[in-house]
Amino acid sequence: MTEHKYGFLIDASCCIDCRACLVACSVENNVPMKNTRIWIHDTGVMGEYPNLSRYSAPFHCMHCVDPSCVSACTVGALQQSREGIVIYDQDRCIGCRYCMYACPFEVPNFEWQERLALIIKCDLCTARLDEGGQPACAATCPTRAIQFGRRDEMLNLAYKRIQENPQRYVAHVYGEHENGGTSTFYISPVPFEQLGFPVTGQTESPAHFNRLVTHGTPTVAAGVAIGMAGIYLAIKRQAADNAAAAAEHARPEHKAEEE
Ligand code: SF4
Ligand code: SF4
Ligand code: SF4
Repeated sequence: MTEHKYGFLIDASCCIDCRACLVACSVENNVPMKNTRIWIHDTGVMGEYPNLSRYSAPFHCMHCVDPSCVSACTVGALQQSREGIVIYDQDRCIGCRYCMYACPFEVPNFEWQERLALIIKCDLCTARLDEGGQPACAATCPTRAIQFGRRDEMLNLAYKRIQENPQRYVAHVYGEHENGGTSTFYISPVPFEQLGFPVTGQTESPAHFNRLVTHGTPTVAAGVAIGMAGIYLAIKRQAADNAAAAAEHARPEHKAEEE
């Protein structure tokens, strides 16, 4: 049984768009900045001079309670852990990109390594959690715009802040009901559409419908998966052959240099 243990509370009224969270994610995952698992949504400049304002908030995988990406993945490359974390296994991925189309938050992105595609998605810094730490983005944020803790505590804190400062926030906790509920909650001084957040309008995850479709048509799903896996493995094999040929080609020169 899934526990949905962890959660984020992200407060757009505290974010100063310094992007330290992006740098922390890049360092933690050892990827260039363009491939971080987190990005910034913002309102752009609003109002008229001198009464100008601008709000921003970081965005990453919401770790949905019933993740549509997991149900769309026919080879089990995306799985939900017992603690509710949605994790990606690149060794199983066949590059079909169904998860991209299934996610209402437009989270899974692809990085291309040679001709192979791997998805880019937050894993909630699982390695850091295993050592009793916090996700790198939350640990780094200088204004505590990103808070991390137990999911139920983060949701309670979201409502507490809205109730204590109703003039500061819109009366909506984004992520509580979107896509059937998630583990990342947002509060904001402006409507979330203005921040550029996806408006899902769904209180039930499409994962439910995906399961109905895939369970109803197992042969089709299996056929698609096998077909995609065949194409992907052929590309993988070709890449390996090319690498081996290149190595073979280079070897005599090295030998000659050594002699
Ligand atoms: S936000 Fe998208 S990628 Fe993340 S768990 Fe939900 S459906 Fe999957
Ligand atoms: S939890 Fe970790 S992987 Fe996810 S966005 Fe934050 S730093 Fe990146
Ligand atoms: S580190 Fe904190 S304040 Fe800076 S951009 Fe990220 S969420 Fe905003």
